[in-house]
Amino acid sequence: MTIILDGKKLANEIIEDLKNLTVKLEKKPKLAVILAGNDVASEIYVRNKQNKAKYIGFDSVVIPLDNDISEENMLEQIHILNEDENINAILVQLPLPEHINKQRVLEAIDPLKDVDGFTSYNFGRLALGYKSLVVPCTPKGIIRLLQKYNIQIEGKNVLVIGRSNIVGKPIAILLQSQNATVTIAHSKTNNLKELARNSDIIISAIGKYHFIKKDFIKKNAIVIDVGINRTKNSLAGDVDFEEVAPLCSYITPVPGGIGPMTIAMLMENTYELYKYQVNQLK
Ligand code: NAD
Repeated sequence: MTIILDGKKLANEIIEDLKNLTVKLEKKPKLAVILAGNDVASEIYVRNKQNKAKYIGFDSVVIPLDNDISEENMLEQIHILNEDENINAILVQLPLPEHINKQRVLEAIDPLKDVDGFTSYNFGRLALGYKSLVVPCTPKGIIRLLQKYNIQIEGKNVLVIGRSNIVGKPIAILLQSQNATVTIAHSKTNNLKELARNSDIIISAIGKYHFIKKDFIKKNAIVIDVGINRTKNSLAGDVDFEEVAPLCSYITPVPGGIGPMTIAMLMENTYELYKYQVNQLK
């Protein structure tokens, strides 16, 4: 029997818990989102994040910047948010306009307000296995969902497909720190199907519609589909759910799997940064 890992349900529980915690606070956590350019998907993501923050009771602000903003002006915006005592968490929505140096921009965020955990300070701590102030949202959401269903990570052979800084690399770090044996595959990997067929857990973060088919799957494997691919009417993952799901012990749907978990973790990270900052002031 295949169990669907219901990310939407768990995300809603986390959001409700945060709402209950926030109602007791006199001063509310505040999230600032920088949205540069006019990428339609980014606008939708940012709106969803803002709606969730509002629902919980957080304060939030979106700073829209023109597509042709200079890098210096963008850095100045981040500097202003870093200095603003009322802002607890800063998110720079990716992708950035092509002429902007993403690394420079992300590095400019105060690590204490780095809600995505993308600065080298926070990412470095994660990689070194030190206690982290924040863990990047998507990998954190994947681990939380596995834990919710009591899925054992220790000793498992895990294949992470994709090596991006926001998903592939950090999830591989987290899984190996929990004693999984992790293989990272990418676009230049030669024997992907063979690696996949030998894996207990597959985490796909590629961004290719229905790339993972049933012949990638070992019987009773656990499949986590991070991919978001826009179809005519909806969203679909990297995994061909219809043909893969019957072979799995657990699988995430798209939509309703890792997407909502990512937003819930963003909200949790905002709350945790707020708490950390408040305690620093005491
Ligand atoms: P990215 O484009 O930065 O990286 C894609 C990775 O896939 C690369 O490392 C590349 O080497 C690998 N890849 C490409 N083709 C491949 C192939 N044929 N075989 C093996 N590997 C291949 O992507 P990203 O930012 O990590 O995002 C990946 C997907 O996850 C996208 O669809 C994105 O929209 C989605 N995503 C979803 C969430 C969420 O909340 N659910 C969050 C982040 C990203």
